[in-house]
Amino acid sequence: MTAMVDVEHRRSFTRRRQVGLLLLLVQFLAACSGYSKRPQPAETVPPRPVVAAGEATDEITEQPAEPLTAASDRPVSSLPEARRMDEASSPGMVLKTFNSQDRYLPSQVEFINGLLRFAQTVTVLSEVEDGPLFDPGTQEIWMPGSFADVIESHFGEAEAPVADVYLHTLVHEVGHVLYDQYDLPLLAREEDAADALASVLLLEYAQDGARVVLNAARMFGLESETSGQVAEADFWSEHSLDIQRYYTTLCHVYGSDPEGQARLVNDDYGLSPERAENCEYEYQRIRRAWLTVLAPYLKR
Ligand SMILES: [Zn+2]
Repeated sequence: MTAMVDVEHRRSFTRRRQVGLLLLLVQFLAACSGYSKRPQPAETVPPRPVVAAGEATDEITEQPAEPLTAASDRPVSSLPEARRMDEASSPGMVLKTFNSQDRYLPSQVEFINGLLRFAQTVTVLSEVEDGPLFDPGTQEIWMPGSFADVIESHFGEAEAPVADVYLHTLVHEVGHVLYDQYDLPLLAREEDAADALASVLLLEYAQDGARVVLNAARMFGLESETSGQVAEADFWSEHSLDIQRYYTTLCHVYGSDPEGQARLVNDDYGLSPERAENCEYEYQRIRRAWLTVLAPYLKR
């Protein structure tokens, strides 16, 4: 047993000596070829060769992984395209069904998608019986075709600004969507805030926004006239009275452009000089409030 151990020991010693000599030889050859394991000063490190993506080389596999988002790896011109792709894949408003009566809904949905970011997909349905309304449970906005009939019944079929009232109503419902999806701060009644949102977004971003909001105000005024005596339900409703919505919406239009909309004061519209006096200030306050709150979600 002992002899065998000695033999093994010698063999091990001999092998270690052979390995040691071999290592010395390798180090000598390595020194001759310029290779060294000592860290090199940064300026002596050769530039990393540019290799097309997917081309496998030992050089690349030995390099530490770099984040794909490194600015130097992307052509500058591809960045806007990447953002466009992000916008395209993000949730938006989808129009599921529409009928011949609300042919303007597609362009109105397009307007809203061009303006706002949503956290979840919002589906607009028009082949429905009830509404206009927003259902937070399903993230659906119901814009029934019968709403066009109601508008026509107030204005008369030939005169009815159906598209304008639809757009104002749709943006009002978007106000409820934004409160639901983003848990926005609510400092007064949500219905009043949604009316204010519709005023601001349409007056600031829509083509002929003043006309659109004015027609929505006229709709409130006509509804107030035809509803007759004010009932108990009008007072416990979540909405302000139609006549209040009429004057407040009128005030927003006037306040956005007092000179251009001067006819709204003491004319057929009947905005009182006392209210009109503060409308510019009132409009600027709701404008600043909504645009500040919406800043992270506005696309333009
Ligand atoms: Zn509402």
